[in-house]
Amino acid sequence: MIMSDLKGKIWMDGDLLEWSDAKIHVLTHTLHYGTGVFEGVRAYETSAGPAIFRLNDHTRRLFNSADLIGMSIPYSFEELNNAQANIVRENKLNNAYIRPMCFYGSEGMGLRADNLKVHVCIAAWDWGSYLGDDKITNGIKVKVTDFPKRCEKSMLHKAKASGNYLYSMLALKDALNSGFDEALILDVDNNVNEGSGENFFMVKDDILYTPRDHTVLNGITRQTIIDISKDLDLKVFEKDISVDDVKVADEAFFTGTAAEVTPVIQVDQSKIGDGTTGKITRKVQKEYFDLIRGKNTKYDHWLTRV
Ligand SMILES: *Cc1c(COP(=O)(O)O)cnc(C)c1O
Repeated sequence: MIMSDLKGKIWMDGDLLEWSDAKIHVLTHTLHYGTGVFEGVRAYETSAGPAIFRLNDHTRRLFNSADLIGMSIPYSFEELNNAQANIVRENKLNNAYIRPMCFYGSEGMGLRADNLKVHVCIAAWDWGSYLGDDKITNGIKVKVTDFPKRCEKSMLHKAKASGNYLYSMLALKDALNSGFDEALILDVDNNVNEGSGENFFMVKDDILYTPRDHTVLNGITRQTIIDISKDLDLKVFEKDISVDDVKVADEAFFTGTAAEVTPVIQVDQSKIGDGTTGKITRKVQKEYFDLIRGKNTKYDHWLTRV
């Protein structure tokens, strides 16, 4: 699938453009310096039509990410919410991945440029399982990456900011080149941090553990799993997790809007549990899939019908 060849509409600076017309200049500031922020949002088919999951939380994080890099978004919260719902509707999507992105334009070059405009685009398309249907059922193998570690002092990991993903991509490439499906990134103290774009959970003796959020992006899926674990009578603790803790865990999984709930069945050369998708992972996954598809009315307030 070549992204720029898809058909449909893209929202850009308040206008609906044809997919092929949503272009920018090569001197776009963000292209050179990674000075952008973005979101990954999903809409799912429900019995009452497509609904966006936790739209308000995603839009809020987009504004927070912009704040953290000192960028001022020239649209209101409601405008961006409406534009996201609108782009799903316009493209007649039942299931959609929605990508809002805020970037500096080509009005100036160099780090000192002070005449930059903030541009916003929102695209949406049908995107199945991020890692493929086989992986979301049967699980993935992850490599503990040797890349330089994340540090608590930098608050930038709280921002879903473009520049952060150079690091994530290098870690992921390293894992893929070694025959794994995803990277497991550590922090400066060698504690488990997260995947390249997913949060990490492990299960030990029927209890869920996830790294504290001081060096990870506090994912909305992560927060969702913590919330729904109560309904499943599962305890969750946020704590420092070592690679050895993971190797002797009963189960593990990644969470993210793109990755949803993806089982982790191997870390480096160690199988987790018996090396297949765990029982609790399956339970959490089913609860999450029911929830996003509107089958659990308790969480209707998280769904925005388009
Ligand atoms: C987006 C992202 C996540 C997952 O966040 P969600 O809100 O659940 O989609 C986790 N880690 C990183 C680095 C991310 O960019």
